[in-house]
Amino acid sequence: MIAVARATRTAVRFPTPFAGVGEAGSWPRTRSASRPERLDAPVGGLQGVGPTIARRLARIGIRRIGDLVWQGPRRYERPVATKRISELFGDEEAVIEGTVRSFSSRRRGRLKILTARVADETGEIKATWFNQPWVENRLAPGAQIRLRGRSNRFGFAVSSYDLEGEEETADFAPVYPATEDLSQKKLRDLRAQALALVRDVGEPLPASLRTREQLPARHDALLMLHRPRALVEAELARSALAFEELVVLQLALLRQAAVREEAFAEPLTQPGPLLERYRGALPFTLTADQERAIAEIDVDLARTTPMQRLLQGDVGSGKTVVALYAALRAVEAGKQGALMAPTETLAEQHFLTLDELCGGLGVRVSLLTSSLKAREHATVRQLIASGDAQIVVGTHALIQEEVDFRDLAVAVVDEQHRFGVGQRSALVHGRSPHVLHMTATPIPRTLALTVYGDLETSELTVLPANRKPVITRWVSDERSSEAYRRLRRHLDDGRQAFVVCPLIEESETRFARAAEAEAERLRAAELAAYRIGCLHGRLRPAERRALMASFKAGELDVLVATTVIEVGVDVPNATIMIVQEADRFGLAQLHQLRGRVGRGAEQSYCLLVSRPPEELTESAVERLQALVETNDGFELAERDLEIRGEGQLIGARQSGFSDLRFVHLRRDRELLERARDAARTLADEGLLAEEVDRLLGEAEHLGDS
Ligand code: ADP
Ligand code: MG
Repeated sequence: MIAVARATRTAVRFPTPFAGVGEAGSWPRTRSASRPERLDAPVGGLQGVGPTIARRLARIGIRRIGDLVWQGPRRYERPVATKRISELFGDEEAVIEGTVRSFSSRRRGRLKILTARVADETGEIKATWFNQPWVENRLAPGAQIRLRGRSNRFGFAVSSYDLEGEEETADFAPVYPATEDLSQKKLRDLRAQALALVRDVGEPLPASLRTREQLPARHDALLMLHRPRALVEAELARSALAFEELVVLQLALLRQAAVREEAFAEPLTQPGPLLERYRGALPFTLTADQERAIAEIDVDLARTTPMQRLLQGDVGSGKTVVALYAALRAVEAGKQGALMAPTETLAEQHFLTLDELCGGLGVRVSLLTSSLKAREHATVRQLIASGDAQIVVGTHALIQEEVDFRDLAVAVVDEQHRFGVGQRSALVHGRSPHVLHMTATPIPRTLALTVYGDLETSELTVLPANRKPVITRWVSDERSSEAYRRLRRHLDDGRQAFVVCPLIEESETRFARAAEAEAERLRAAELAAYRIGCLHGRLRPAERRALMASFKAGELDVLVATTVIEVGVDVPNATIMIVQEADRFGLAQLHQLRGRVGRGAEQSYCLLVSRPPEELTESAVERLQALVETNDGFELAERDLEIRGEGQLIGARQSGFSDLRFVHLRRDRELLERARDAARTLADEGLLAEEVDRLLGEAEHLGDS
């Protein structure tokens, strides 16, 4: 008889055949300290992992044995009743147990079908497996087997099975993120091997805290996560691990706050005539939100503690104007300002915008990017060192490389969520400028608190007055000619347009080629009469800059682009955008793209073209619908969260916090508060300090990519 069989044969549906949790307490406690290095070993050390499997595992982020322990299940199998064969009814999911009588396999077209006759004391049924020929080698007449699946008119369609000692069919069996070439069975088997070492994970939280918060030991929590007896247990495990994660995060933030406390910044007292002239030169009056942000910045700058402020505002809300204000405050005090962007294209964009605004003020702006030729690079660095460059625009190379500012007083970091915490501290460690972080991705409050800790925030909630919300339409590709007709109408009225080509992540080259091919096609067909430029990441910076400049100057009508225009491009005369294969973009990305139009007083349009809804995935349909329904970035951020599932942090990758594995934004508000309180009472030392190092290190690493 199979060991696993008895445990689940119950109407209560509670017990599990999994040994892990139940036995954990009875395991002999060893006195030896944990040996974390065993978990740090590459997965290749596990049984059944050769180079091929190792490569496949790496693709889903599993490189070390410990990764198997730390990557939790995506979900758990639902509990189902164990039935006698004669009791099977309809097509409800069930588990049956019996003896294999005989089996055979055949082909139907490309389908390989394996059939086994399985009997229990009440009857016999034909069980079928599709496209799993290897199962045949494991079967033998007389073998005891457990099957999970559904009965149908041909017999019983097997979704998972267990032979001697296996646990695939169990209630609450973990379902891991898998791929086509990595089966659940394999992943579970590897988990079993890795979990045997689970005690080596160590215990970063002091026992007193665990007791107070009623947290299971770390290794028990991990075991429960992978082998829960019920969903409540899985949730208990998850929240315990999330708590620990949040404590580590809070400690990291406290560490940075301490560094900041010790840092000294040059106070900048009052804005003077240069800022007067700046205001006068702007072709509009500042919004109330912009004024408030500026006032808050002025207060920060007057202090000797470096400013650490987050300027949050949706695309088009006018952050750049505020950022330049901050930088100019430095210039007026005879010091330097810097603006850092996450990509070279963005840096170039900012440079164009700032250079234009600063020209009339007699303020010298320089652009420093790593793609400059060595000679130019040296020249710009010289200008920075001498102070001739009053405002410097660049990528985060500005802080990573040894760029010597004569006197950097204010640094603006754009789209700061793309930099990890690590970069933030680097910035503070190296020198102590006042820092303004800008982000266009609205972040739910809890996350802001989580990720930014005690950063002060200024928000631009109201768009500049004359702005009309962009009208968004979703068109299926059969009707894309109508989209282009509308686009041509805008061009004929003297407006400009964007056409965005789909994202092909794997290959920037193919991507570039797709954009070029599309530009060619449009030149020959829909847009034959117009001036078209093509912007993509493969262009050299100088070419890109020239292209953007001529689009801005109105020498081009249409810019066919890849997502390089995602953020920062500012051409108010561009009033229409067509996004091709829009279903292939993420929600946040589409919102950013859409922000490139609607920047002037004219009514602007964003036309999303895709295959018809019935050919798209459910989540793609939801994304596109959400974009049509609202322009509110905050609303979209929340929807994105829902569509992607609670387990995913919004923009986790960009935030540099994809290493927050267990935290759920919405559910864990209260947990976050508790973790904040706990972190204040804890010493940043030992294993806990190592975890903090790791978090900061990883964040830095992510920001690099
Ligand atoms: P963000 O960086 O927040 O996406 P920008 O700073 O690029 O937004 O501003 C978007 C556009 O709005 C720019 O063309 C800018 O010149 C313009 N703008 C900024 N502030 C105002 C304002 N107060 N009134 C009118 N237009 C403004
Ligand atoms: Mg901007």
